[in-house]
Amino acid sequence: MDLGIAGKWAIVCAASKGLGRACAESLAANGVNLVVNARGAGTLEATARAIRAASGVEVVPVAADITTPEGRAAVLAARPDPDILVNNAGGPPPGDFRDWDEEEWIAALRANMLSAIALMKAVIDPMMERGFGRIVNITSSAVKAPIAELGLSNGARSGLTGFVAGLARAVADSGVTINNLLPGRFATDRLASNFAFLAQRSGRPVEEIRKEAESRIPAGRFGDPHEFGELCAYLCSRQAAYITGQNLLIDGGAYPGTF
Ligand code: NAP
Repeated sequence: MDLGIAGKWAIVCAASKGLGRACAESLAANGVNLVVNARGAGTLEATARAIRAASGVEVVPVAADITTPEGRAAVLAARPDPDILVNNAGGPPPGDFRDWDEEEWIAALRANMLSAIALMKAVIDPMMERGFGRIVNITSSAVKAPIAELGLSNGARSGLTGFVAGLARAVADSGVTINNLLPGRFATDRLASNFAFLAQRSGRPVEEIRKEAESRIPAGRFGDPHEFGELCAYLCSRQAAYITGQNLLIDGGAYPGTF
């Protein structure tokens, strides 16, 4: 399927690895030029080179912390008027809410709610004026079914979800869509570090915890980041113009509800 977005520009945040990188790769495979971001310059440069070589699109790496105003300014300076924005950042640490103080909550809000809102604010008016825009926020299945040890994520991402529900409808007649993609469990470094935390806390072998988690997924496996990237690219397509304000789970059937 031709997604009709070749030649457009996307900013993909937190994209040197994992789900962000997969979104960048799928957009590039559909001819979209990229600004890709992450904090670590070495891995980011290598990712940019690999995407450029595989797709032939322009890829501009910006090494910066997307949770800071300076980091967002650097990313926006590379492309102030993107057609597509994929918001992403590292997830907050797991733990017990009794151990978190206000600073830790504010850091989670900055990373998983306020950064995305600030970037949407920066790009949405020009998108509306041009009559085309696609915004995808990477959130988590924890928005629909909370994960006990990820309370910071459950809380901060739900705040973003509530905000987006209103904004998406407010701009829906302008050609700009805003959707949230809710990953279940995907085989990335982030998933491995969550299992390491659970192993340390319980004293059980990490492989046992990993296998147990995998066996609870109806699909019988963790997701492949490429599957996630492809859905992101579709949401950014011309064809997806009538999908907005949605929270799309991609979790191998793990969410147990009917709706
Ligand atoms: P990952 O494999 O650990 O990759 C995270 C990427 O984000 C890296 O490129 C990292 O590079 C970058 N990054 C982290 N913090 C950043 C910051 N402050 N500014 C800019 N870039 C930053 O993680 P992932 O699994 O792809 O997860 C992506 C998001 O989805 C996270 O928020 C995660 O919590 C959420 N999620 C993941 C899963 C899953 O199963 N994988 C499930 C639910 C939700 P640097 O470290 O160099 O900055």
